[in-house]
Amino acid sequence: MTDLAKKVVVVTGGGRGIGRAVSLLAAKRGYRVCLSYVSDAEAAATAVAAIEAEGGQAVAVRCDVAEEAEIVALFEAADRLGTVTALVNNAGVVDLPAPVSEMSAARLHRMMATNVVGSFLCAREAVRRMSTKVGGRGGAIVNVSSIAARLGGAGQFVDYAASKGAIDSFTIGLAREVADAGIRVNAVAPGIIDTEIHASGGTPDKAAVMGPGVPMKRAGTADEVAAPVLWLLSDEAAYTTGAILDVSGGR
Ligand code: NAP
Repeated sequence: MTDLAKKVVVVTGGGRGIGRAVSLLAAKRGYRVCLSYVSDAEAAATAVAAIEAEGGQAVAVRCDVAEEAEIVALFEAADRLGTVTALVNNAGVVDLPAPVSEMSAARLHRMMATNVVGSFLCAREAVRRMSTKVGGRGGAIVNVSSIAARLGGAGQFVDYAASKGAIDSFTIGLAREVADAGIRVNAVAPGIIDTEIHASGGTPDKAAVMGPGVPMKRAGTADEVAAPVLWLLSDEAAYTTGAILDVSGGR
């Protein structure tokens, strides 16, 4: 296998939380990892170091997924690692709890630009590289949605829930659009996972507080989301596309 034939996965928001777990597991499975971060360069560097310590290869690229030019540059960096055959659209934000009646346009634009438009543009770059119709080798995309898409987030984060609802429709539509171009598109929909996202949403202890209310009586871990993501990327899921897989402990 030539260097450039080596398979590369792009993981947005790969320095922390679920993205970090996906990045580390992907490296263990033999991918070269191009992970992005937006503000926490140190966490991203630590993730790269952890991959390299295990003999893997990874680069960290600063990329705000709300900025088209930065996404284009992220994929150009990935091209330098090898052939992009996988994308995990993981980067995402929440905001402080608020009813819709209190939401500003700026909040809504940030939420949709990051969680929705960013995922579309990353997928666009991936499809342009992977499509067998334009000489690509095919590939797989996994979008990180949320069960919030069907719960709705009433009184707290309807904007976030709606952004994930858009990701679900995007997953189904893109899957059908590129099914005959060698590209599979799926999503995972996590429930409450113990990461730092809850602190950025103003409820740092959310996993501990809400865990007992989950049918499995606990929050999930980032590793428990990474495993199904890697399965969906793998050939074991060769006939699975357009699926949205709950990873929510039964919630
Ligand atoms: P996290 O620990 O807060 O990590 C979020 C990641 O996204 C960070 O790596 C962050 O980069 C990156 N990011 C944020 N804004 C970005 C932007 N504008 N451009 C590029 N990257 C950006 O969150 P997490 O819990 O792992 O969440 C990962 C995904 O899972 C999100 O899509 C989230 O909606 C989804 N999810 C999480 C849960 C949960 O309970 N944790 C449940 C359902 C779905 P920096 O490291 O540079 O800040």
